[in-house]
Amino acid sequence: MKTVLITGANKGIGLETAKQLSKKGLFVYLGSRDPERGKQVAKALAGKGFENIQAIEIDVTKPATILAARQIIEQEKGSLDVLINNAGISGIVPQNAQETGVEVFKEVMDVNLYGVVSVTQAFLELLKKSAEPRIVNVSTSVGSLSLQSNPSWPAYDYAKYAVYASSKAAMNMYTVHLAYELRDTAFKINAVCPGYTKTDFTGHIGGEVETAGNRIAKYALIDQNGPTGHFFSEETNPETGEIPW
Ligand code: NAP
Repeated sequence: MKTVLITGANKGIGLETAKQLSKKGLFVYLGSRDPERGKQVAKALAGKGFENIQAIEIDVTKPATILAARQIIEQEKGSLDVLINNAGISGIVPQNAQETGVEVFKEVMDVNLYGVVSVTQAFLELLKKSAEPRIVNVSTSVGSLSLQSNPSWPAYDYAKYAVYASSKAAMNMYTVHLAYELRDTAFKINAVCPGYTKTDFTGHIGGEVETAGNRIAKYALIDQNGPTGHFFSEETNPETGEIPW
């Protein structure tokens, strides 16, 4: 049975991805920065017939929680097959490049970039023990430099996410470098946009969370011939899913 760790899985897209991967037979560590909320969610899921979902405390900005989570997974499983860096925040919106203060950039980078780096580095050794290690960095199409600078891109004038988009663009570049460094291994490491989705993040506007979870779960399960070092948004490109960085 494969094992997956999903950060920020106590609600929203992370939670839905946890449900879908559990149904596909994976053992799911449901990351939650609030341990009590994580336990409540896991208990509720068990009551609905979801098997093999276990809450684990992990705040991506708190190294002690990341290391404690690694110890638990190492002791219980010995390896990790899939890491989904899903935890993310937008920071206060609207935000723009001219006025939004650097403290907002730091707050958002702390979760969306440094959190991803910290969690990834902490779990790399356990992932290397898997025959088919996968990392999915949950991104957004508005973090694409190519699209956001294209006047015909539908979100070109949607200029309220200067901080959030910068943080995801930075995370995308981290994804490119990590995939490059691990290119001659079994790792498959990609950035995936779930699409605009009804969660607390968007004030419950957008598409269905099931669709978003399915898009993320798909790249957690790609086979040995699958891509690595690519950026996908099936909302933006329904044909191949691939979009430019
Ligand atoms: P959400 O419902 O707000 O869920 C975000 C999750 O991240 C929550 O579990 C939250 O925990 C967790 N989180 C925040 N800060 C954390 C930290 N320091 N440590 C650990 N967990 C933390 O948002 P969502 O829509 O599901 O978003 C999930 C991911 O999808 C994000 O990376 C987001 O950028 C991306 N995304 C979303 C959309 C969309 O339209 N919804 C579109 C593109 C990309 P708490 O409950 O404790 O706050």
